[in-house]
Amino acid sequence: MAALASIPPTERLYLPSLEGNFIYTSTATLLKLTKTFPVDDAELPEAGATLLKVDMVFDKSPFHPQGGGQPTDLGQIRSTSTPSIVFTVDKVSFSFETNVVTHHCSTTSVDVATASPLPAPGAEFSLEVDEEHRKNMSAFHSAGHLVDSAIYSLGYCGLIPQKGYHFTDGPYVEYAGGKSVAEDERKTLVPRLNEKFCQLIADDIPTTICMQQKEEAEADLNRETKVFDFSVFKEAEVRIVGIANFLCPCGGTHVPSTSHLSDFEVTGIKMKKGALRVKYDRKKAQ
Ligand SMILES: [Zn+2]
Repeated sequence: MAALASIPPTERLYLPSLEGNFIYTSTATLLKLTKTFPVDDAELPEAGATLLKVDMVFDKSPFHPQGGGQPTDLGQIRSTSTPSIVFTVDKVSFSFETNVVTHHCSTTSVDVATASPLPAPGAEFSLEVDEEHRKNMSAFHSAGHLVDSAIYSLGYCGLIPQKGYHFTDGPYVEYAGGKSVAEDERKTLVPRLNEKFCQLIADDIPTTICMQQKEEAEADLNRETKVFDFSVFKEAEVRIVGIANFLCPCGGTHVPSTSHLSDFEVTGIKMKKGALRVKYDRKKAQ
């Protein structure tokens, strides 16, 4: 852990602006490579075995790590030296303690037993995000924001966002204070949310992203609806994302505007231990 502590924070290319959400490739300098399989050189597999797993840290990265309810980016990392080694990115993670992004990768393009030394710190790599997967994850994540916008534009300010799950297998947004929505209103909530969805999508509202001083952001966002707890943020600046005119702190990737969410709909609601869960999904083909 001591070695990792000396590594500087990773420059996350998707983070500071909306444009960063559409950067899919970058060159980067390797800062650290750790072999994770096989772990022990004393137990090298037979010659010819080619599955090698490594963790890689770079000075910068276009990859979005798994977190905030959004699945990991996938893609490839290739060394720019000859012969090139191609690593498949299986998962990307982020440490809030060190602000370092780690790419968990595998490769079958080298013989593990006889491989010449693996790339060393200082080597240059090409980092390539799977663009189709990223766009899909951005859409599922952004549709969760659209639920927020629809909820608050219907006036349900007693609902406090407490969880978002933006994976493709049953995404939802969950709010504390579900009982602040009267039972008879809950019965008509899904069609009313979908009506609001249609309106917000037709308005094609551009997404906004900015880094803002924490105190300033808290004053702005909690002025009308006091739904955000800023005490959880340790940094001086907070990333504020606006989708369908609703602002919230968020670290994910997003679509450029609401018209990109035209194939999403609210599919149901559920009360769970006093919380209101709003389920949404891509519309199923008719
Ligand atoms: Zn977001």
